[in-house]
Amino acid sequence: MIGAVDIGGTKIAVGIVDDGGKVLSRTQAPSDPDRYGEGLSLIAQMLRETATQARVELSGIGIGSTGPVDPLRGQFGDVDFLPGWRGKNLVKDLAEIFNVGVALENDGDAAALAEAGWGAGRDRSRLIYVTVGTGIGGGMVFDGKLYRGVDGAHPEVGHHVVDSTGPECSCGFRGCWESLAAGPAMVTWLESHAPAGYPHRDGITARKICELAQEGDAVALQTVEHEAYYLGLGLANLINLFTPDAIVLSGSVMKSAPLFLDRIREVIGSGCRFVPAEKTQLTLASLGDDTNLIGAARVWHYRFGEPA
Ligand SMILES: [Zn+2]
Repeated sequence: MIGAVDIGGTKIAVGIVDDGGKVLSRTQAPSDPDRYGEGLSLIAQMLRETATQARVELSGIGIGSTGPVDPLRGQFGDVDFLPGWRGKNLVKDLAEIFNVGVALENDGDAAALAEAGWGAGRDRSRLIYVTVGTGIGGGMVFDGKLYRGVDGAHPEVGHHVVDSTGPECSCGFRGCWESLAAGPAMVTWLESHAPAGYPHRDGITARKICELAQEGDAVALQTVEHEAYYLGLGLANLINLFTPDAIVLSGSVMKSAPLFLDRIREVIGSGCRFVPAEKTQLTLASLGDDTNLIGAARVWHYRFGEPA
């Protein structure tokens, strides 16, 4: 039974996950961006609570965290959302408190490992996991191995450029995939293209746009078409670069995947002529809203041994 810790920008989720990837108990709390010590005590307390709830003893702890983190040393990097955690070593600290093996990965990598091991990516040798929500992230698992960059670095699939004249991105470039195809990009596009007097403009969200598109709203449908085009372009790039067996799609925007998938496939089919793009399956993630928590548990299995 693994204690799973999912650290996001605004909240920390903790739970107990069994050896088949099932969540037995869970709880969550807001993260404290400045005070690491408080965060550590809170996580330890949440782990004890969820273990008691599930009536189990922890045999290990897995952590998935918003990055950058150093998975091999267990340290937090310069995480925008958690300035007070920089340089702290949650792996070492939790191992001391609980006296069990503790492993850490970037949350995109953790979710990729979970989908590869327990989810939609099972039996796929070369798998790319992509999550589309407020940003675009992901992870790659090739032949059972998580792909790591130099010095353990996590590649940023959301920051490949799809239009160099596009909007400015926090990474320094313009027109990154994330800046054109994450949820907020749908809102920005609608706001600048909807005609004057469009009744749904105020406070519109990506989710609302998808709902309106399902109801046949013309402006929302145009926004969805634009979104699907850029999603398709980025996915086509991944297919050209890696020709994976499958790309597993996740995240809040992908909850409305049926709105986008046909156009995405059309965009991929319009290029990618030199690779067998039709053999890359686009699959929806299968682990649901707890993917990141389940991913955190999978991180432990990945590091310390396969589940029985
Ligand atoms: Zn960028």
